[in-house]
This record gives sequence, C-alpha cells and structure tokens, in this order.
Amino acid sequence: MAIPTSIRQRGFTRWYEHELLLGHAHLVLLVLAALAALGALEAFGQAGSERLLMVLSLLVSTGIGVLALRRYLFHLMRAELIANQASCPACEVYGRWQVESTEPGDAASGRPEAMQVCCRRCRHRWRIEW
Ligand SMILES: [Zn+2]
Repeated sequence: MAIPTSIRQRGFTRWYEHELLLGHAHLVLLVLAALAALGALEAFGQAGSERLLMVLSLLVSTGIGVLALRRYLFHLMRAELIANQASCPACEVYGRWQVESTEPGDAASGRPEAMQVCCRRCRHRWRIEW
C-alpha cells in the first residue's frame, strides 16, 4: 500500500508504529536465519552428517538473513525519514497532520515521492518527501 494512502487510513502515528513493527519482525527473522546458519555450520563438522544438505541449509539461511536485513533497514530508514519531517514547521507539534495531496516521484530525474500535508492544530501546510 502506498505511504500516503496508508497514513490517510491509519494516521501518521499508527503508520509509524506499523513500520517499526514490520521492520523489527524482519530483525527477528534475521536472528532466526543466523541461528539456522550456525546450526548448519555446527552440523557440518559432525561425523556422518550429510554435508551437501548442510551447505544447502547454510546458503538458504544466509540468503534469508540478507533479505531480512535489507527489509529491516528499508522499513526503519523509511519510517525515520518521514518521522524526521513530521513536526509542523510553524507550531512544532509532532505527528498531528493530514495528507492533502501526493506527488509521484521520478527516478530518472531523482525527484523523490512527496505529499502535501496540513497541520491539524494551526493549518500550516508543508511538504514531506521520501
Ligand atoms: Zn502546526
């Protein structure tokens, strides 16, 4: 779901919490993948183990771990990038705004996606980019 749509439905605070929970769920997956990789390494050294299976387990758990780390960093960085722009420049209230419009990004020119937001307290408008 697009960020502005999700923030419109949930509000900024709930969207932010959801992003952090999603990111940390990937961190848990990373820890589990690391444990699986260590288990495969330990089993590899034991006599009578099927070494090909252990190498395959090590590769799969390493791949899952790398993907989990990427998703963890993605969700965390995106949440922090938007949270750092979430204070109203006029009255400095944090996270109390609503999305008014969205602007699609353009990867070719390097223009980021953005949304126009309005403070619920003082009605000041500003732009949040990601
Ligand atoms: Zn304000």
